[in-house]
Amino acid sequence: RPRIGVLALQGDVREHRTALSHFDVDVASVRTAEELAHVDGLVLPGGESSVIDKLSRLFGIAEPLSTAIGDGLPVFGTCAGLIMLARRLTDGIAGQQTFGGLDVTVQRNAFGSQTDSFETDVDVALLGAPPVHAVFIRAPLVTDVGPAVRVLGRLGDGRVVAVEDGNVIGTSFHPEVSGELRFHARFVERVHARAA
Ligand code: GLN
Repeated sequence: RPRIGVLALQGDVREHRTALSHFDVDVASVRTAEELAHVDGLVLPGGESSVIDKLSRLFGIAEPLSTAIGDGLPVFGTCAGLIMLARRLTDGIAGQQTFGGLDVTVQRNAFGSQTDSFETDVDVALLGAPPVHAVFIRAPLVTDVGPAVRVLGRLGDGRVVAVEDGNVIGTSFHPEVSGELRFHARFVERVHARAA
């Protein structure tokens, strides 16, 4: 069975492990380059991207992970995980870095303090019916997408909240907290395809 890692430096690691337990894969927590080398795909959880950034550099996994993503490792990031995958970041803390992987610009904490957190349904044509029940928690927005990026989901006003770029999927919201398994399913499909 393929082995899927969840980057376990900070954030909602447990929720992603639970979501992944519904699939025919082994699940492992990943904190080091050594552990990264043994997985066929990686989930980047929600949490606090500035902390994940700092810890990933401290643990020496930031650079090998960027390289692995560039080499085609399937990766799925939610919320802070999406931020970590953006090639360009606005409203990060001073010196904040990302792994890259998605040719997009992401604005951190894009919804401000008035609408810190909210839930709404998002139509994702790729996933069909029903719409995705999306939970946003101090969520980022995708404010610009490169030509090869596939937009998977938008808010009612057109703002982009889910994208796919080759081997990388990112969502502004948290499918792992609302029992939404279809993004994980697509990611797992990618992992199976690459491992085959
Ligand atoms: N605001 C957080 C950040 O900057 C993301 C929030 C989340 O993952 N729910 O990383």
